[in-house]
Parts: sequence; C-alpha cells; structure tokens
Amino acid sequence: PTARTPLIAGNWKMNLDHLQAIALVQKLAWSLKDARHDYADTEVAVFPPFTDLRSVQTLLTADKLPLALGAQDLSPHESGAYTGDISGAMLQKLGVHYALVGHSERRHGHGESDETVGAKALAAHRAGLIPMICVGETAEDLAEHGAAAVPLAQLAAAVADLPADAEVVVAYEPVWAIGSGQAATPEQAEDVARAIREALRDLLGDERAAATRILYGGSVTSQNIAGFLAQGNVDGALVGGASLKADEFSKIVQFRK
Ligand code: PEP
Repeated sequence: PTARTPLIAGNWKMNLDHLQAIALVQKLAWSLKDARHDYADTEVAVFPPFTDLRSVQTLLTADKLPLALGAQDLSPHESGAYTGDISGAMLQKLGVHYALVGHSERRHGHGESDETVGAKALAAHRAGLIPMICVGETAEDLAEHGAAAVPLAQLAAAVADLPADAEVVVAYEPVWAIGSGQAATPEQAEDVARAIREALRDLLGDERAAATRILYGGSVTSQNIAGFLAQGNVDGALVGGASLKADEFSKIVQFRK
C-alpha cells in the first residue's frame, strides 16, 4: 500500500488568540467549501497554539469541517510535576490527531536535543497521536555537510524508540528556508525527501517507508506549492507564515488548480 494522501499542514506558531483562531478557521472553511472538488483527496491540518485547541476543536466538530487538528509540541512525559507542559493524552482527548516534534524553533529556541525529540515522538505515538517529525539543516550544516546529513541523523534519533509499525509524518524543513522567503527548490526538496525515504526503509521497513508521508516546509506559498507536490517523494507541505491567511492557505490546499 503506497497511497499517500497529500497533506497540507498549517503551523500557526505563536499567533492568534482563540477568538482570532475561530475567525481564521471559519474563513478557511468558507473558502474551501466551494472548492471541495479541487482538493477532494487532500488532507488539511491546522496546528494552533495550545490555548486555541479547544475552541478550534469545538468549531470543527459542530460544523463537521474536514480539517484535522495538530499540536505544535507536547511533553515527553505522561503526567506529573512538569509545570507548564502539556501531555499527549490531554491532546488526544481534545481530538488532536498530529503533534509536531522537533520543529527547528524548538530545537534552536528551546535547546531540544535529538533525544528529547525522540522521547516526544514516542510520547505522541503512545498517546495515539501521529508524530510529525521535523528535520532540517541550517545554512552552516548545508555548507559543511551537504543537505541530507543532518536531517537523516535527526530522523534516526527521532524514530529510534518507536515500534516499526508506528505511523509518522516527516517534515523536511531546511532551517535556512523557514520564514526567510527563500524556499528550497523543488529539486532540492526532492533530493532530501528521497534520502529520507531510503533511510526510512532501514529504520522502519519497506512497507512503512513506502506509506510514510514526507512533507516539505520552508517559505511555501501559493506560488511555489505545485512545484513541490510534483516531486515523487514530496507528499505535502508544512506551511508557517502563509497558513495565517485564509485565502492564501486555501490556494495552497488547492495546489492542483
Ligand atoms: C514552519 O514554521 O514550519 C515554516 C515552514 O514556516 P514558513 O512557512 O513561514 O517558512
């Protein structure tokens, strides 16, 4: 089974309070409603801040909107004395489906190690969430080691403790492309995505590797999305800045148009 439904995921980062979140999801639902046939076999997910999750979940459920919910992070622990942290079980209970782990802003801004990212991936899996594992090289890594070395090392650490049948999504996000307006080329994204899929064969087995969705992230817009999705190993996009504008995100979702 190699059917990999394209996945367009919007990472809102630390933007939008719960009222603004409701407004954005309503606008998004409105602009996607008329276009349902243009993204019939595309999955759409939004990753709001923790404080917005309950409001967004309520709206998605009440209006039966075809959007999946993701969290931007989670604790590696199950429960207990971890002030300020949020567990996978809490997220799962809220209808959350995906959890980002290892986003570069967590690795670099919060000093998260490869081990921590692996522990978070495992915590997500155990809680019934699908970890969306973010990997990517900095500009310095790129100059020193080429594009794939650091992402592949990060990936191996992130899945090290997962059972081989665990469903994961991998997001390849070159750090130099995030929020910079300087996206990778589709060919650059494909080269690393192909290397990631090869590595997944060893890490999780052939079947899992063939079924795992690999996303590209880094300055994706409605103008460049189609080029990425045209690549054989790129199965979707993780979108930051452009996911905060309903019209723009809606155009990205309709990348086939
Ligand atoms: C991200 O935060 O995951 C991201 C890709 O951001 P942007 O699209 O703004 O580059």
